[in-house]
Amino acid sequence: MAAVQLNGIFKRYGDTQVVHGIDLNIDDGEFVVLVGPSGCGKSTLMRMVAGLEEISGGDLMIGGTRANSLAPQQRNISMVFQSYALYPHLSVYENIAFGPRIRKESASSFKPRIEAAAKMLNLSGYLDRLPRALSGGQRQRVAMGRAVVREPSLFLFDEPLSNLDAKLRVQMRTEIKALHQRLKNTVIYVTHDQIEAMTMADRIVVMNAGRIEQMGRPLELYDRPANLFVASFLGSPSMNFAEGVIVDGAQGLALKLEDGSEIAVPRDAAQSSMAKAGAKITLGVRPEHIAIFGGEGVPMEIDVTEPTGAETHLYGKIGGNVWCVTTRQRAQFEPGQRVMLDLPAAHMHLFDTASGRRLA
Ligand code: ADP
Repeated sequence: MAAVQLNGIFKRYGDTQVVHGIDLNIDDGEFVVLVGPSGCGKSTLMRMVAGLEEISGGDLMIGGTRANSLAPQQRNISMVFQSYALYPHLSVYENIAFGPRIRKESASSFKPRIEAAAKMLNLSGYLDRLPRALSGGQRQRVAMGRAVVREPSLFLFDEPLSNLDAKLRVQMRTEIKALHQRLKNTVIYVTHDQIEAMTMADRIVVMNAGRIEQMGRPLELYDRPANLFVASFLGSPSMNFAEGVIVDGAQGLALKLEDGSEIAVPRDAAQSSMAKAGAKITLGVRPEHIAIFGGEGVPMEIDVTEPTGAETHLYGKIGGNVWCVTTRQRAQFEPGQRVMLDLPAAHMHLFDTASGRRLA
C-alpha cells in the first residue's frame, strides 16, 4: 500500500501548459476520484503518476519515494483503462496470468493469486473461456483481475466504465467499491461522470482547466461548493442559478433579478454570507431543495414536465434562466401551470457573481 503526494506538479506540451501546479496528498488506502469536464487535465495527471507521461515540474512521491524518474514498472502500480485490451486468443485464466508469466513467476506462486482474484471478481466459472464468450462487464472484471494479481500498492483507473451500458456501469461501480473495501488499497480513479465520483470516492478532486477547483468528501462538496464551477458540476439535475443585485427593501433583503423580479433573501442567509445591498450575487438552489407551495413564493410557469418514476422534474424559467424543481409528489403538474416555489434559507447558496466564489 502507498500514500501518494503531488507537490506543484505541472505539465507542458511545447509552449502550452495544460496542468498548472497540482498539490494533492493521497492517504494510504484512500479512494480518490479526479473528476472534471473533458480536457481539464485529469488523464494527463494520472498518466504522470503512472509514468506514461513525463512530469514537466514538481515532485511526485509514491510510498515516500520520489518517483518522477522511475520507469512505470518500478512504481508498483496497476492501471485499468476504458478499453480493457484482453488478448482474444487467450483464456480468462491466461489473460490474468499474462503479467506474472512475463515476469517469469512460477505457476505455483501465481496460481493461488489468480484463483483468489477470480473468486473475488465472480470469474471462477469462466477461467477457461475466451474473452469473446464474455459479457462487457465480465471482460472489464478480467481486466481488473489482471490488475489485482499484481498486488500493486496503487491502483489507477482511467474511465474504466465508459464503454459499458448504463445498467452495467451502476453494477460495476458497486463492485469496484466493494473490491476497494476488501483490498483497502490506494486508488486514483479518473472520470468525467460526477455520479461515479459522488458514489465511489472517499474524496473527490474537482478539476477545471488544469487546476483543482475544490477537494473534499463527496457530500461536503455537494453541500458547500466553494465556487460556481463546483456548484454547477456536481448534482444532476444541476443546481439552479439566478443572478442579481441585493436590494434592501420594505420586505427585507432581496435579490433583484434582471427582469425586475425579486427573490427574498432571508437576513440570516445574507448575514452569514455578508451579502450587502448593492452586491452582485448569484443565488444557487438545488432542485430537490425547492418545495412547491400553495402560498406566497417565487412564481414559476412550468414549461416542461419530466416524470422519471421516482420523481418528476419540472422545468420553467426564473430571471431568464432555466430552473428545475424535483418533486416526489405524484400530483398532476401540467405545462402552462403556475406554481409557487419555496426556497428554504438553509439551502440557499450565495456566490459572488464576478469571482464565482462562495460567500462564506
Ligand atoms: P481529460 O483527461 O481531463 O479529458 P487530458 O488530460 O486528456 O484531459 O488533456 C488535458 C489537455 O492537454 C487538453 O487540452 C488536451 O488537448 C491537452 N493534451 C493532451 N495530450 C496532449 C499532447 N500530447 N500534446 C498537446 N496537448 C495535449
